[in-house]
Amino acid sequence: MAQDHGLELPTVVIVGCGFGGLNAARALRRAPVNVLLLDRNNYHLFQPLLYQVATAGLEPEEIARPVRAILRKQKNFDFRLVEVQSVDFAQRRLETSAGPVAYDFLILSHGSETNFFGLDSMQRYGLGLKDIPDAIRVRNRVLTSFEQAMLETDPERRRAMLTFIVVGGGPTGVEMAGALSELIRLVLVKDYPRLNIKDVRILLLEATDKILAAMPERLREAAVKTLWRKWIDVRFNAVVAGFDGELVRLKSGEVIPARTVIWAAGVKARPLVGPPGEGRVRVQPTLQHPEYPEVYIIGDAASLEENGHPLAMVAPVAIQMGRHAARNIRHALRGESLAPFRYRDQGTLATIGRNAAVADVYGIKAKGFLAWVMWLGIHIVQLIGFRNKLFVLVNWAWDYFFYERAARLITRD
Ligand SMILES: Cc1cc2nc3c(=O)[nH]c(=O)nc-3n(C[C@H](O)[C@H](O)[C@H](O)COP(=O)(O)OP(=O)(O)OC[C@H]3O[C@@H](n4cnc5c(N)ncnc54)[C@H](O)[C@@H]3O)c2cc1C
Repeated sequence: MAQDHGLELPTVVIVGCGFGGLNAARALRRAPVNVLLLDRNNYHLFQPLLYQVATAGLEPEEIARPVRAILRKQKNFDFRLVEVQSVDFAQRRLETSAGPVAYDFLILSHGSETNFFGLDSMQRYGLGLKDIPDAIRVRNRVLTSFEQAMLETDPERRRAMLTFIVVGGGPTGVEMAGALSELIRLVLVKDYPRLNIKDVRILLLEATDKILAAMPERLREAAVKTLWRKWIDVRFNAVVAGFDGELVRLKSGEVIPARTVIWAAGVKARPLVGPPGEGRVRVQPTLQHPEYPEVYIIGDAASLEENGHPLAMVAPVAIQMGRHAARNIRHALRGESLAPFRYRDQGTLATIGRNAAVADVYGIKAKGFLAWVMWLGIHIVQLIGFRNKLFVLVNWAWDYFFYERAARLITRD
């Protein structure tokens, strides 16, 4: 595809229009190259708000935007909707679902996938949260559980249907548990007045002795207290050993009857480069592949250590790496030496429902309402597209003032 794409200009192929790939493509807009972005989806997805789709707060199209619309004004840009299957580094070629694609420079930003840590039963019966279909599946399951509970006459079985388990005490698990609790206790409670709310249980299972491990201790404690106030049973050192669709087994031997388990315990690199199962690719400080200097690997797919610790798999790392890889390609085109990547850490934040969040960003440590307002502002600013920002704001305002969740539809898979 290098040939049909430009006569003399080198072709930069970017795999993945997530945070890393999209920012790399944008940063190459004035470079003397043709940019070809490949993705199996035609949209850029704002994953940090996926849990709000899963809990009926937002519609999928409010947190995603077609990549052709985002970059339509960029003259040197083109897009192909393909699944990339493998990379032939020696031949500088990708194998895709639509045939081979040649490159002069390659930026691999194909992200990560849910890590079930080898728990096959969880992969089979649990629910991941990584893309729009996952979020819709969670939404369907939660809402369907309430409908089934209405039909169930056996109290034990009804309680199991209304037990929701979130596994993983990182930001995704904490936000998911908080939003689920509010969906149930503020909204569904009105839809199902005949169900006894005391039958509902939400558990957040964390394998270690702390949630939100990247946060300072004061904020971690505040987060746990907020979760308890929202009737979420936070369990520490609770290691899941299996799930057969009806019972969750913990390593301690405890068995919890539950139908819905949302797995937010981690992600791992997608096996696009190297043999299946191989983790993130260790890159040079310049973000280049260790053997192929024309190949850059960024975001969740890349592994780079700073101060002895691997950089986290979070959006700011991917965004900054995308811009940096583009900068280094521009240097390479001019025959200049490449610069090492330095991460500018902006901190972390997590919301636990209305008026409640913890934030450690730009050196400011906050909790409660102030942190929640910071969380709202930062997420609105980062969302792509004015329409999405507006619709999300309107939805949030509606939910806030009327205790509603507009997207409470059960759709067929
Ligand atoms: C539920 C959830 C909540 C999160 N919350 C936060 C948060 O609050 N803050 C934060 O900083 N980070 C958060 N993250 C992490 C953040 O979303 C990721 O670190 C970030 O998306 C990584 O960017 P990326 O460009 O490496 O990959 P992605 O953004 O995942 O993009 C990868 C792209 O590659 C495409 N792709 C993959 N394989 C192929 C293939 N074989 N062929 C074609 N296309 C392919 C995918 O379709 C996708 O568009 C969250 C993640 C999840 C799942």
